[in-house]
Amino acid sequence: MSKLWSPSVRELTPYVPGEQPREKLIKLNTNENPYPPAPGVERVLREFSPDHLRRYPDPTSSALRDSLAHALGTTADQVFAGNGSDEVLALAFQAFFRQERPLAMPDISYSFYPVYCRMYGIDSCTFPLNDDWSVDLDALASDSGGVIFANPNAPTGHGHGREAIAALLEKVTDRVVLVDEAYVDFGGESAVPLVERYPNLLVTGTFSKSRSLAGLRLGYAVGSPELIEGLIRVKDSFNSYPVDALASAVGIAALEDTDYFEATRQAVITTRERTRQRLAQLGFEVLPSQTNFVLATHPEHDAAQLFLGLRERGVLVRHFNTEALRHYLRISIGTDDEMDSLVEVLEILCR
Ligand SMILES: *Cc1c(COP(=O)(O)O)cnc(C)c1O
Repeated sequence: MSKLWSPSVRELTPYVPGEQPREKLIKLNTNENPYPPAPGVERVLREFSPDHLRRYPDPTSSALRDSLAHALGTTADQVFAGNGSDEVLALAFQAFFRQERPLAMPDISYSFYPVYCRMYGIDSCTFPLNDDWSVDLDALASDSGGVIFANPNAPTGHGHGREAIAALLEKVTDRVVLVDEAYVDFGGESAVPLVERYPNLLVTGTFSKSRSLAGLRLGYAVGSPELIEGLIRVKDSFNSYPVDALASAVGIAALEDTDYFEATRQAVITTRERTRQRLAQLGFEVLPSQTNFVLATHPEHDAAQLFLGLRERGVLVRHFNTEALRHYLRISIGTDDEMDSLVEVLEILCR
């Protein structure tokens, strides 16, 4: 704590990201994609002229937004691009959720949401998940200054279909509903087609997971031009150039290779189901998942101990030390070989 900090900075509770270890571990802790980005990405990196870096990038990211609009089946004026979806979320909190009434969210969801609430002085009201760990959409429809949740949700892996989101939007019409679709490509159903019908719906997405580009920092939002304009107002009051020239070119190359995208996301889904089966054989209870991770608990083995045992043997997973999650491990889906190594270690630890 430093006296040199602004008073408000002393009050912050920063997000704690999963560790990025320097030693060589099988890394199943931050939901990164085990496959490299599309081959076109390597071509862009090889051929990119350093001279392009002399100039500022396009402040409106129009080429990237065109490409996103094409991939998502929207128009470019319904798309906003930013420096990772965490940044897009931060801009959305400022643009839409600084309201008199508190922001409604599930009690178990992406832990960045409460961090932004504190940062921007936004009160929140949280609602428990249903018994099957699904987000309680009926509860989220109650009076609030806005609604946010991840769909599929993290770290539970449960996702609601588009019909359920539409039903929520029929009830909530006077405030923004933000659906964070960081994991939707691994088996969820996107709410993007609803954007045309509901001007208060904002959907965010990221290149970090299904596009294997977590190191690049690219994210986006899809919504009515009215909402996009709100985001642009905040962006242009903070950083006019969030997406750099290289990131834009790489992002476009990743979006263009639809075959590679299909193949890698299917591979993750197949490995996930295989992993769920193998964990179940070891006595784990594994929640169904529409994401690139699973949440698992073992009735006879303490999750914190399993986390440490795995780490000692070179496998890194995520353990959240909260009341609701401390009996669970969140395990990202890697390659089949990586998941075999995980299972081998768990066979020893669960003997
Ligand atoms: C990973 C993740 C993000 C952040 O993605 P970036 O684009 O890497 O910032 C946002 N929301 C959820 C739920 C995530 O899991």
